Amino acid sequence: MSKIILNKGREKSVIAGNKWIFSGAVKESDADDGDIADIITSSGDFLGSAYYNSKTQIAARVMCLGEKFTESVLLKNIQSAVQRRKIARIHDDTDAFRLIFSEADNIPGFIADSFASHLSIQSLTLGADLLKNKIISILVDELKPKSVYEKSDHAGRKLEGVHAHSGQLYGETPDEVIITEHGVKYPVNIKTGQKTGFFIDQRENRKLIKNISSGRTVLNLFSYTGGFSFAAIAGGASKAVSVDISADALAIADKTAVLNGFEDKHDTIKADIFDLIRSRDFNEDIIIIDPPAFVKSKGAIDKGCRGYKDVNMNVFKRCAPNRIVLTCSCSRFINMDLFQKIIFGAALDAKRNAYIIGKYSHPADHPVNIYHPETEYLKAILLIVE
Ligand code: SAH
Repeated sequence: MSKIILNKGREKSVIAGNKWIFSGAVKESDADDGDIADIITSSGDFLGSAYYNSKTQIAARVMCLGEKFTESVLLKNIQSAVQRRKIARIHDDTDAFRLIFSEADNIPGFIADSFASHLSIQSLTLGADLLKNKIISILVDELKPKSVYEKSDHAGRKLEGVHAHSGQLYGETPDEVIITEHGVKYPVNIKTGQKTGFFIDQRENRKLIKNISSGRTVLNLFSYTGGFSFAAIAGGASKAVSVDISADALAIADKTAVLNGFEDKHDTIKADIFDLIRSRDFNEDIIIIDPPAFVKSKGAIDKGCRGYKDVNMNVFKRCAPNRIVLTCSCSRFINMDLFQKIIFGAALDAKRNAYIIGKYSHPADHPVNIYHPETEYLKAILLIVE
């Protein structure tokens, strides 16, 4: 078995349960890229197993501690991920949920989302690519899904030295799967949609909007297929408008409106929101701002912060008094404290009083592993802008 030998003192975070071993922590390794190897301390103690990749800053990702990796580790970790969803009662009000959330569920670099029993999976690393077939065969045995489709197109794969890859892995995935979340039906295009097909991570925040939308108008900025809009209409909103740059996403939003009988209360606008925010007033009662991750690496934090500030400041500047704004960031490199500071700066420059009336994150099917807090990424702040 090949080895990853750590520098002195660098075993601490591994023993404490963090999944990442950075290249600076590795003294030497004879593992080939993608191999699973023994993790050994500088004094020669065996700690567990990790997969290795010399090409990346995160040189190794821990698969297990205190034992050598075997397929039974994968089985155990998948079974406990399934159990966590059951304990959290994820299934009560949706048939779309994240089944495996990479490091958070102890299967680093691997994501599986379930859409009405059709699985959409993503491998983010070389190590996860090499474990993929074993993981899929366990998922098929344990869960009997209708199909499994791979959408490994994450930009981060480049750093790992692996290409994007998509395709059918098991059964046959239909072009469109209908899911039901909090009573609303959403068509999901696993094969051609963004990410794994649907932003299930906003589920509880959509419910939050549903709960406060009765009799109100809603503007959904960066709407994708209109998730927040339809939650709002289901909650009694008199009108919801979905705005996105993607014509494909808005076409699905139109379909969703028809599917739910909401077409009279829903409109779409295809626009670049960076233009729209400079050319329009915001009179809607509730405004949702859920942009894509503007910060995709540590080096891009400053530029990304300016992007968030720009959108929020312009909306605050041009919105009528006493509007509710739900503003979100899904960049892992910006934590809640920093995001709140950005929103503070935006309110200050817009010369508006703003009150935080709620702070939220991702739901229980995106658990945060307490020993690997890097799994937390979504921030949503609910404001009244006076
Ligand atoms: N709120 C959505 C998810 C949003 S994902 C949901 O709950 O499902 C971010 C969206 O922003 C994507 O659909 C993307 O197409 C869109 N987008 C990215 N840049 C944009 C821009 N400059 N103007 C308008 N939309 C943009």
